Amino acid sequence: DLLISQIAAGEVVERPASALKEMLENSVDAGAADITVQLVQGGIKLIRVMDNGTGISKEDIPLALARHATSKISTLEDLQQVVSLGFRGEALASIAAVSRLTLASRRAEQKHAWKVQAESGRLSPPEPVALASGTTVEMHDLYFNTPARRKFLKTEATEFSYCEETFKRIALSRPDIGFTLQHNGTVRRHLRAADPRSRIAAVLGDEFSQTSVLIDEQAADLRLWGSAALPAYSRASRDAQYFFVNGRFVRDKLITHALREAYRDVLHLDRYPAFVLFLEMKAESVDANVHPTKIEVRFRDPRALHQFVFHAIDKALATGQP
Ligand code: ADP
Ligand code: MG
Repeated sequence: DLLISQIAAGEVVERPASALKEMLENSVDAGAADITVQLVQGGIKLIRVMDNGTGISKEDIPLALARHATSKISTLEDLQQVVSLGFRGEALASIAAVSRLTLASRRAEQKHAWKVQAESGRLSPPEPVALASGTTVEMHDLYFNTPARRKFLKTEATEFSYCEETFKRIALSRPDIGFTLQHNGTVRRHLRAADPRSRIAAVLGDEFSQTSVLIDEQAADLRLWGSAALPAYSRASRDAQYFFVNGRFVRDKLITHALREAYRDVLHLDRYPAFVLFLEMKAESVDANVHPTKIEVRFRDPRALHQFVFHAIDKALATGQP
């Protein structure tokens, strides 16, 4: 039912950046080695994501666009593992409910790709098109059929900056994948597959790399690694704070607090530092199913984690040189 889809879509597709996030995660899940994003007018006019992942067979394309159809859960164990990562099988259906969506896909064994278009809940019959193996998803004219929602979109420049932020988070979390970002026909970011440190430098810039300390601490089942800026980093501000838990971007008060305390303790600095940090922990020590967009998590042992993060940063700041 289109109306229900449009209402549900509001939770998944708040703005172009949220659609982009879902599309990028699908490309990552499909095992893509290279992903190209093309945006027009901040993603409002067009988001095109092209990947060289597994592709989708002709028969499965309608399923991919159906609500609550996912290829990512096949056993009950999967369900438990996967629910917390947000595989709900509704992203593409939701995007299709509030935009004009086209999907073209080719599995390696097929001679050509198949393309469908979805508009207002209706799917066109698949037609053959030429495409290297992989998937290209296009979202045109977000909210063309729900003008009330469209009014809440910001300027093209602002929507682009949200999209770029989403792009950066995913690029940081997967340095092994090559990523390109274009806006209105201009290449804005081109990131080759790289080791994690090089990816951090490529995304945050040389100045960040030269004015930050390296962190790599391990204790029991926890590992924290990455970089945190020293006061010399001129852009040390809230907009460059990247924290990943088991590879997923997370915003967390507990972590921010632990970092802030460490900066205060060592550098007597009372502002938010820039950082890129990866926390690795057992999957059962963290519950990611708190928020529909999965940016927030709940830790099983917040007190121990706070201490661990505080000490790791404290030590790195006290002893580390850029
Ligand atoms: P979910 O990712 O939660 O399964 P989505 O609506 O995002 O739900 O996608 C539905 C299905 O479409 C996926 O389970 C996957 O099988 C398929 N799919 C979507 N995007 C891609 C892609 N880029 N490459 C291969 N398969 C894809
Ligand atoms: Mg998905």
